[in-house]
Amino acid sequence: MATPTYVVLLGKQGAGKGTQGELLCARHGLVHLSTGDILRAAVRAGSDLGREVSRVLEAGELVSDDLVNRLVEERLGAPDAAAGAVFDGYPRTRGQAEALDRILAPGGVGLCVLVELPDELVVARLSGRRVCEGCGTIYTLTDPSAESGVCERCGGRVVQRADDTPEAIGARLAAYERDTRPLIDFYDARGLLVAVDGDRSVEEVSASIEAALVARGLA
Ligand code: AMP
Repeated sequence: MATPTYVVLLGKQGAGKGTQGELLCARHGLVHLSTGDILRAAVRAGSDLGREVSRVLEAGELVSDDLVNRLVEERLGAPDAAAGAVFDGYPRTRGQAEALDRILAPGGVGLCVLVELPDELVVARLSGRRVCEGCGTIYTLTDPSAESGVCERCGGRVVQRADDTPEAIGARLAAYERDTRPLIDFYDARGLLVAVDGDRSVEEVSASIEAALVARGLA
């Protein structure tokens, strides 16, 4: 069997990691592993996990490394993850990046794509972002599904995320600077980092990511 491909998407919230993650997975048969999606689904389901993390998510703080590492390891063990995965919103701390190395050993992350976007654009994008509660599809305010509140893909409710408020956005940007920015050096030092400009069309960003995969022999 071919070696699995693992891609990490790094970048601030709203940079386009979710959208690009979906596209990458559809093209290459990979699993889109968004820890945020897993945690939000748990909150919606009202499970023990959901009750444990709901306050942290609403405040825009980070849940513990141990907890997300366990979720990731579990998800990667599922049969549909055999070809590999695109990590979106994970790892977010150095501890998580080190845990991911252990989880993926003896192979490892093949590419880390940093989707860059200035803070002003992050705030503008997140305030206008809507998301389907059912399938996680992301919409902007002018999309018909955002206007109608009904997802065109699955019929689920299209809502504003509870943490896309000005306070939580500020807390999430601070957490990014404090905990996640150091990961840029972590992956760059290993020659795995490629930065792409996120302030372009979905298609343009996607083409840059695809080119980076091809350049590394991953596609
Ligand atoms: P996201 O959808 O990636 O913006 O994540 C939404 C929220 O879920 C974050 O603000 C955190 O509260 C939590 N979360 C998601 N991924 C992680 C992670 N890797 N480590 C810690 N907390 C996370």
